[in-house]
Formats: sequence, structure tokens, C-alpha cells
Amino acid sequence: MADYPLGQLLEAINFAAIKHSKQRRKDEDKTPYINHPIGVAYSLWKEGGVTDLATLQGAILHDTVEDTDTTLDEIEEKFGPEVRSIVDEVSDDKSLPKAERKRLQVINAPRKSKQAKLIKLADKLYNLRDLSRATPQGWTESRVQEYYQWGAQVIRGILGTNKDLEDAIEEVLRKQKLSL
Ligand code: NDP
Ligand code: ZN
Repeated sequence: MADYPLGQLLEAINFAAIKHSKQRRKDEDKTPYINHPIGVAYSLWKEGGVTDLATLQGAILHDTVEDTDTTLDEIEEKFGPEVRSIVDEVSDDKSLPKAERKRLQVINAPRKSKQAKLIKLADKLYNLRDLSRATPQGWTESRVQEYYQWGAQVIRGILGTNKDLEDAIEEVLRKQKLSL
């Protein structure tokens, strides 16, 4: 029972849903935050062909440590050391200023594991699509453009990880007259 893979995936979805329950995305509709990690995992499977359980669990959990009170120890206790390590790799150091965190994402992305790179690709794909769907409240056009450019920079460092996801990102960027 405890090692039933679909159960382990549902365990992660349920855990993330509880942890993110009070959070909303930055769009005007204030979409429930959990739509994002579920969408990232869905995209990994549907568009990227990824079926590795730990990667999909990592995608579901990828913003729990960064954006909620969840600790890495808690992740390890519930999901084991492999998922802990993946979530650790995709979490920014919250003690650093935001601009520094963004700079480090660009520098550190190429050194990450394949599993972490896959999640980065699907995460950026989701966020770039979200941005192209609607501008977050209060964002200026230049801030939106900055985000596209920064997202593209992170992805350039991990090209060769998954062609289908990279092509999908390229398509979103092309509409902004950007490319990888
Ligand atoms: P971001 O600007 O990085 O916000 C984007 C993040 O918000 C995404 O990575 C995503 O992260 C999350 N998100 C939630 N909802 C959406 C959505 N609808 N569309 C896209 N992303 C969404 O973070 P901060 O608000 O923390 O801003 C910090 C940085 O922004 C500063 O370092 C500065 O460089 C820049 N800035 C620029 C300004 C300008 O006018 N040019 C003004 C102010 C800040 P996740 O995957 O974790 O959910
Ligand atoms: Zn995310």
C-alpha cells in the first residue's frame, strides 16, 4: 500500500494542496496557487513525456519549501531522500534578496540534476505561459519583459534536457520576439 506509485503521487498532491491552500497566483482572477504545481507536473508528463515518480512528486512539491512553512525534513519524512533532494535543488534560498536569488538561478541551473532541470523547464514554461495569458496585477510592461528575458536566460543554461519542453518554451518566447 505504502509503495503504490499512484498513491504516492496522490500523497504529494494532497500534501501540496493543504500547504498552498491559502495562497493565490498573481493573476487578476487570483487563481488558486495549487493549479500551478499540478500544472507543472501535468506538463512534465503530457508535454515532456516524463513518468518518473520522484520527478513528478518533486514537481507537485516544488514550491512548498520556498513558499510555505514546509521544511525539507518534513518532505523527507513523507516522501523519502530522493524527493527531498529534488525539492531542495529547485528551492531558492529564502534568506537572500530577490535579485540575488534570480541571479543564482541562472548560475546554478546548469549544475543541477536531470530531475531538477526537468522541473525547472516545466516551471518556467508554466510561468511564461501564465504571463502571456494575463499580466499580473500591478506589473508594468517592462517588468513583464524582464521576466521573459530572465526566464529565457535560466532555460538557456539547461538546454538539452527535454526537447519537447524546450520547444514549447521557444514557442511562448517567439510570440514575444525572443528566442532561446
Ligand atoms: P517575480 O517577479 O519573480 O514574480 C514572478 C514569480 O511569481 C514567478 O516566478 C512565479 O513563481 C510567481 N507567479 C505567481 N503568479 C504568477 C503569474 N500569474 N504569472 C507569472 N508568475 C507568477 O517575483 P517578485 O514579485 O518576488 O519580484 C522580484 C523581482 O522582480 C525583483 O528582483 C526585480 O528584479 C523584479 N521587479 C521588477 C520591477 C520592474 O518594474 N521592472 C518592479 C518590481 C520588481 P512560482 O513558480 O514560484 O510561483
Ligand atoms: Zn513554481
